[in-house]
Amino acid sequence: MKKINGNFYQKSIVSIDQFDAHDIEKVFDVADSYKKGLEKGTVFHDLEGKLLTALFYEPSSRTFGSFTAATQRLGGGIIPIQGVQFSSVVKGETLEDTIRVFASYSDAIALRHPEEGASKHAAEVSPVPIINAGDGVGEHPTQALLDLYTIKERLGRTEHLSIAMVGDLKYGRTVHSLSKLLSLYKNIVMYFVCPKTSQMPQDIVNLIKKRGVKIEIVSSIQPIIDKMDVLYMTRVQKERMDKKLYESIKDLFILNGRMAGRMKKKSIIMHPLPRIHEMTTDVDSNPRAVYFTHEVKNGMYVRMALLKLVLAK
Ligand code: ASP
Repeated sequence: MKKINGNFYQKSIVSIDQFDAHDIEKVFDVADSYKKGLEKGTVFHDLEGKLLTALFYEPSSRTFGSFTAATQRLGGGIIPIQGVQFSSVVKGETLEDTIRVFASYSDAIALRHPEEGASKHAAEVSPVPIINAGDGVGEHPTQALLDLYTIKERLGRTEHLSIAMVGDLKYGRTVHSLSKLLSLYKNIVMYFVCPKTSQMPQDIVNLIKKRGVKIEIVSSIQPIIDKMDVLYMTRVQKERMDKKLYESIKDLFILNGRMAGRMKKKSIIMHPLPRIHEMTTDVDSNPRAVYFTHEVKNGMYVRMALLKLVLAK
């Protein structure tokens, strides 16, 4: 995929691999200005006359809602395609053909699809930019950007961080994108707290190690929790594995309020959501918990920034 190299205009956003630290700063600067503007009640018109197709082949409410809100907050319009069971896909239409059709109606397509690589594939045939809104067990680049934006906002830095990623690291795409993104920064220590049957993919481990990330694989949250700057909880991706594997790992790592209370004062608890039962609801009132209070809104600001940079000159 084409690197961003300081210029987002008309480029597809498929993978975190396309970004360098300068590109990320650019997204964050634009997101900051939208955040400030919206907080003051500014009405933006940057995407007036533009249309985004939100083409979602997998269930989603928050990412779908976030892209919709981001587009509309910038004065753009949205073609919402969520129930693929009502579309031509059930008649056997290929992804390529569907992309060509919606590219004719709109200026960009945010695509969520159950297959890894679907966004890359779509970008190869699409005349308009594709934004990867999650491709199977592959990546979720916009989530990683909002996660890093939140880390920077809450902790004041993107370097010198100890982060524990907890849960299903093999099938969870958010941690794939986030590890690659964090590996662009100095002095990052990652603790992978995961079942033996669901570890971080080796190609990602190799890449981030090469970039200087220190990795520790641990079997429990307890011994490390008081040293973490960021605790990144994830759910087990039930829909991507057989029942036997799901049953064997679903309850392995559960964060509760008492454990969360042992964290450093200046640390944060994150979750890409939806939360299932890997985190009890008493964590929500912990001041370190930022998933409802910051991540969700930041997702909208960051997606506004990306859409603006890709679609408007
Ligand atoms: N919402 C995130 C995703 O689409 C996380 C999850 O579903 O567990 O990957």
